Amino acid sequence: NGSSPNVSETGRTIVIGSSGFIGRFVTEACLDSGRPTYILVRSSLNSPSKDSTIKFLQDKGATIVYGSITDKEFIENVLREHKIEVVISAVGGEGIMEQLNLIEAIKNVDTVKRFLPSEFGHDIDRADPVEPGLTMYEQKRKIRRQIEMSGVPYTYICCNSIAAWPYHDNTHPADVLPPLDRFQIYGDGTVKAYFVAGTDIGKFTIMSINDDRTLNKTVHFQPSSNLLNMNEMASLWEEKIGRTLPRVTITEEDLLQRAQEMRFPQSVVAALTHDIFINGCQINFILDKPTDVEVCSLYPDTAFQTIYECFEDFAKKILDNVKAVSKPEPASNNATFVPTAKPEAL
Ligand code: NDP
Repeated sequence: NGSSPNVSETGRTIVIGSSGFIGRFVTEACLDSGRPTYILVRSSLNSPSKDSTIKFLQDKGATIVYGSITDKEFIENVLREHKIEVVISAVGGEGIMEQLNLIEAIKNVDTVKRFLPSEFGHDIDRADPVEPGLTMYEQKRKIRRQIEMSGVPYTYICCNSIAAWPYHDNTHPADVLPPLDRFQIYGDGTVKAYFVAGTDIGKFTIMSINDDRTLNKTVHFQPSSNLLNMNEMASLWEEKIGRTLPRVTITEEDLLQRAQEMRFPQSVVAALTHDIFINGCQINFILDKPTDVEVCSLYPDTAFQTIYECFEDFAKKILDNVKAVSKPEPASNNATFVPTAKPEAL
């Protein structure tokens, strides 16, 4: 059944970056799986939203360890003291290179059975975005090479895009509702991408750490049900909200120009958006390396949330916002939501 003899079902797991966008999904899934879950939190002085995420995870059963991956000796002590078997890193842009310390600590302790570095995107050895996306990929590539050189057991998670409207100027699109005024379509809108719900990114990541088929492998998330182009995404959202919206073209040149502006993190997102929706970086290769595994082949009995279901959740959020503002009569279950207010007001 793919269960690894190396990692016990209850393997102690530490997540670094739990208060972040991707880290929260992964930590929740880890807790749901019943594993003893530790979270490394940088400081007790966080923003209110990060504080509430940490409190939520703590209430769900996570054990907080305060500290930073910049302190190698501290990390070694944490790994030893808590007998950590699995280390998952979901640090953001500026933390990518700091993972070199983490690799060193894992290597020195020698009891960690799986390390997942902060990937959670494309196959960075295949994709080739323009700057400043390229610099981030080069950093992630250096981390991969260091892991491989150190002999640390690893899994690389390539989950592709998070299911949401793919705004070219927002790092965390799933935190933003799809448009209600107009669609910005990249190029001719026909290049497809895989859109995976955040909860599924978490769920399948955690499934993969307990599986010897993913040891020293790259796990690609390619659910065919979630492969859509922007025109299809737009139509699906229109169907969901019950009205059509104007479509504006954002050309390849527009995206390149936004990448060249070197605004952070927006220009990184523009560079990656260009790579996805113009170059087709999620679909222009075949899985032909011995290190490639595909998540649907690994877990054929576990379904992915569809984009339609994800859009349903977004529409529900809009409806909840409207209700909170106007306190109308409860809508019947099958009512189609037709927004009448301006998006800004929502
Ligand atoms: P965030 O910036 O939202 O969160 C980063 C987290 O890492 C925070 O919790 C931060 O803690 C923590 N962190 C950073 N440095 C350290 C350190 N030295 N020690 C301990 N903790 C640290 O990151 P994202 O979720 O945006 O990105 C995570 C990964 O996911 C990246 O590799 C990114 O490329 C990828 N990604 C993929 C997306 C997709 O659609 N597939 C979308 C977005 C990201 P603190 O609270 O202290 O700052």
